Amino acid sequence: MATDYDEVRSDVKESQDNSLEALQSANAPDARSVVRELDEADAMDDSIVPGGEFVAEELVVQVVPQAEDEFTCYSCFLVRHRSQIAREKNGHAYCIECEG
Ligand SMILES: [Zn+2]
Repeated sequence: MATDYDEVRSDVKESQDNSLEALQSANAPDARSVVRELDEADAMDDSIVPGGEFVAEELVVQVVPQAEDEFTCYSCFLVRHRSQIAREKNGHAYCIECEG
């Protein structure tokens, strides 16, 4: 029936309004606290980022010092001792593991 349908719709609308009001009233203080937390996070980032980025960059690059008696295999790109050179071709060395 039309009347029942209208009642359902008004109920749904009312519950939507209530939830919207609840969201708005709940969001207002939260938004301010979130902004304050972001400001604090930014302040912390400013003091942390320079050193943190430097450390992270070092970890990513992973510079491996190659000693005089070492070589970098051109196949597996691992730094190995020169005694493990199995073959050298076109100036590139290959380890015994790669050459079998
Ligand atoms: Zn190799």
